[in-house]
Amino acid sequence: MLITLRDKKTIRWQLLLTVQKQTIITMMKNSRRDFLQKLAASAMTMPVLSSYGAFSKLDLYPPSYQGPTLRVALMGLGGYASRVAAAMQDCKRAKITGLISGTPSKIKDWRAKYDIPEKNCYNYENFDNVKDNPDIDAVYVITPNALHHEHVIRVAQAGKHAICEKPMAINAKEGQDMVDACAKANVKLLVGYRMHFEPKTLEVVRMRTEGELGNIKFFQGLCGFRIGDPNQWRLDKALAGGGALMDIGIYAINGARYMVGEEPVWVTAQETKTDNVKFKEGVDETILFQLGFPSGALASCLSTYNMNYLDRFFLNGENGFAELQPSTGYGPIKGRTNKGELSQPHITHQTLQMDEMAGIILDDNKPIVPVDGLEGLKDLKIIDAIYQACATGNRQELQL
Ligand code: NAD
Repeated sequence: MLITLRDKKTIRWQLLLTVQKQTIITMMKNSRRDFLQKLAASAMTMPVLSSYGAFSKLDLYPPSYQGPTLRVALMGLGGYASRVAAAMQDCKRAKITGLISGTPSKIKDWRAKYDIPEKNCYNYENFDNVKDNPDIDAVYVITPNALHHEHVIRVAQAGKHAICEKPMAINAKEGQDMVDACAKANVKLLVGYRMHFEPKTLEVVRMRTEGELGNIKFFQGLCGFRIGDPNQWRLDKALAGGGALMDIGIYAINGARYMVGEEPVWVTAQETKTDNVKFKEGVDETILFQLGFPSGALASCLSTYNMNYLDRFFLNGENGFAELQPSTGYGPIKGRTNKGELSQPHITHQTLQMDEMAGIILDDNKPIVPVDGLEGLKDLKIIDAIYQACATGNRQELQL
């Protein structure tokens, strides 16, 4: 049987609807009042409410969606931007309307591929001129980590919303500047935390939030891969801001927070390095870190550029557990809990992310797990503290 593009879109919509239905059915079963009463009954679960709020609906759009779309310029046409651009072809609410690159040949190729008019294309010297371009609502910054600070601040000053890749910046001081610049310009700042919209991840968050796992005791996050080319920007402190922790370990930091549902209050960390040539001063190869949460829950995490097959989250509660493996790769994510296999559908992460981010920017929707600049800033504060803990050997107190 021949499956047309239209059929595929309808199937995808039905899958999305299934996720939404599951969320709604669960919400109906546990009415909001019951849910809030349960939360209020337990002081330990209060951080769930303050950190993540009550569940909002998943914002999903039918194939026939005709409403407003978020018009996005992509900045930094490298590997990840290529993935985002391809995924955005299936978006209902977000579309690519502009390009920012320092390489004219890339602009030429991307213009042809994505049908972008020349007047919506910029380079790193003149992209401030997006302020006069009514075809662009937001700029998605997908450049090396150390450039996010300058790029996001210039986007904000041009009066456009900023979506910024992770890590939002290379330290909390820079992150705070970006949050302040966006607040001053009255534009939104969102971080490209695609896992915050991923259906299996959200099912575990739902189970934990609704008490199905009981009081959370422990989280384990293992994040890493063996990095190749020693000359890439990821191994250059000036552009990367650090090493594996900035790039991949951040998933364990962020995951610990949304899986446990609390903000950590302390961190300890230990660093090891087996290759001082590839991993120069300030570029971490492997870091183990531990987080302590107000309830007494603990997290134990590994961040590395020196091991493959390392993409696992494990959450342990008094009444159950959840395991995701792979947990943060491009998917499909796989997972199981004490109740069985997770069966939520795989949806291309960046398609879902950009449709959801359009809803956040255009309709002020509140995501189940936040993706705003303050969320990015909290992760940067933890990163700063982990590096400090490695350098001093001392436990660092956290105030997020
Ligand atoms: P990349 O090297 O493939 O692309 C980076 C782009 O930035 C290139 O097009 C490059 O030309 C451009 N650039 C602009 N100024 C530059 C400069 N001074 N030096 C070097 N490059 C410059 O990298 P990538 O993998 O696309 O990563 C870009 C960002 O996206 C990083 O912040 C990374 O952490 C993030 N990322 C996120 C995910 C995710 O799953 N959310 C995945 C991969 C990368």
